Amino acid sequence: MASEFDLIARHFTWPSPGALLAVGDDAALLSPAAGAALAVSTDLLVEGTHFLAGTDPRRLGHKCLAVNLSDLAAMGARPRWFTLGLSLPAVDEAWLAAFAAGMRALAQAHGIELVGGDTTRGPLTIAITVIGEVPAGEALRRDGAQAGDEVWVSGELGEAACALLALQGRAGSRAAVFARGRERLEAPRPRVALGLALRGVASAAIDVSDGLCADLGHVLERSGVGARVRVDDLPRSDALAGCRDDPAVRAAVLGGGDDYELCFTAPASRHDRVLAAGAAAGVRVSAVGEIVAGRELVLLDGHGAVVRPPRAGYEHFSDG
Ligand code: ADP
Ligand code: MG
Repeated sequence: MASEFDLIARHFTWPSPGALLAVGDDAALLSPAAGAALAVSTDLLVEGTHFLAGTDPRRLGHKCLAVNLSDLAAMGARPRWFTLGLSLPAVDEAWLAAFAAGMRALAQAHGIELVGGDTTRGPLTIAITVIGEVPAGEALRRDGAQAGDEVWVSGELGEAACALLALQGRAGSRAAVFARGRERLEAPRPRVALGLALRGVASAAIDVSDGLCADLGHVLERSGVGARVRVDDLPRSDALAGCRDDPAVRAAVLGGGDDYELCFTAPASRHDRVLAAGAAAGVRVSAVGEIVAGRELVLLDGHGAVVRPPRAGYEHFSDG
């Protein structure tokens, strides 16, 4: 790509006072705080798989970083640095400026600095590696849930998956209601502040990227426990609360992707501390179930009857 260096200089060379050396050399030089463990995570977003072709570039820039920040949030790590791998079909200056602006605004909001990357020609693909810091031993891991813990969810679930149905023309008569979640789908807000507030409080955590059942399932598997979740207590947005019995909404709440909320566990004795953490972070937190012995995830309705889990993710939703 002839103008690769110009392109990096114009769009991706931002102030990075928190790095010893950032964009421009063969490698960045980073110095973690004393006693900090580094939390490192990569997420790859491919056009057509992870986002729709034609997605607004500002929102796309935001989302690519947001999904990575969400992983740091789920570890209770403070965001510090990231690298950006970009494969672009062509150099479109206006597109790049908007993409960079969306990413930069979110980066500034979370105090994370772009310190390097790679740029090449190819199908539109964005690979970000984030690096965060967490005091050694305090990270929120997937393997810490214990029988008796409560299961919690932040924010609301299902909106992003319903918005995707609307954008794909698969929402039928509910298109207008579902479309209200478009901003949640395209510009998710990573729960970084909540993750930090849950250090020392939560026993395990994961971010909900593939749907609650799948992601809570990872916690159960890693922790060697089961869970009982009260489906009617799962938090929904006001828009979706009106469609309580709609099977597509129920499937989106239980199994839809792209919510980027946190699902976490904490000893029941810390119930009030979890509420305080949510209040401190300005995020709604809902107790939705409990960890039990065994290996199974059991979903219960309001009468205590067992509900069958959704068969799979959002792509299998039936039309309305
Ligand atoms: P090299 O050939 O040594 O890999 P590059 O020419 O790929 O170096 O990159 C030059 C500098 O620009 C490096 O510091 C690299 O980290 C940075 N860089 C390249 N692409 C990006 C990008 N998309 N965002 C941020 N920094 C980038
Ligand atoms: Mg390179």
